[in-house]
Amino acid sequence: MNFKDYIRVIPDFPQPGIRFKDITTLLKDGEAYRAAIEALKEGVKHLEIDIVAGPEARGFVIGAPLALSLGVGFVPIRKSGKLPGETIEASYDLEYGKDRLAMHKDAISPGQRVLIADDLLATGGTISSTMNLIKSVGGEVAGASFLIELSYLSGRDKLNGVDVFSLVTY
Ligand code: 5GP
Repeated sequence: MNFKDYIRVIPDFPQPGIRFKDITTLLKDGEAYRAAIEALKEGVKHLEIDIVAGPEARGFVIGAPLALSLGVGFVPIRKSGKLPGETIEASYDLEYGKDRLAMHKDAISPGQRVLIADDLLATGGTISSTMNLIKSVGGEVAGASFLIELSYLSGRDKLNGVDVFSLVTY
């Protein structure tokens, strides 16, 4: 399946000059959505993952079904102030803007092999921040998986040495 056919590009969203990759057109197609999760699973199944972590909100839409498909649990990484338990936090820069992510302190056990999942890798800010949260509680980042990688923003270079798997590249 050519997944690019299901992704819509919207110019000048959320700011002039950004060509936003809209994955809602893929998600609403049951066959394409399932095929994308299957393909991601095939790409990462050799990594011996113990648990999947995904950043709010589109990381949930990819990470949770991927975790189920791999037969492991899912850890939500949320915007600051949303999680009810004790959290650790990290700030990061976006392709457009700044934000702060949080994770429950007890979400990941030391030594667990974690797969990070998100819809899209742009500058890598979101994922390096997520990596820092995971590492700070002793988790091992075993890999990172994305529907889309914007290779011209070189986000991969920020994830030093992590096994990166993406379905489509722009
Ligand atoms: P990064 O932190 O790698 O610069 O940006 C990636 C994050 O921003 C992801 O969580 C992703 O959801 C969001 N993002 C940035 N640009 C786009 C885009 O063009 N399309 C989509 N769907 N998400 C984007």
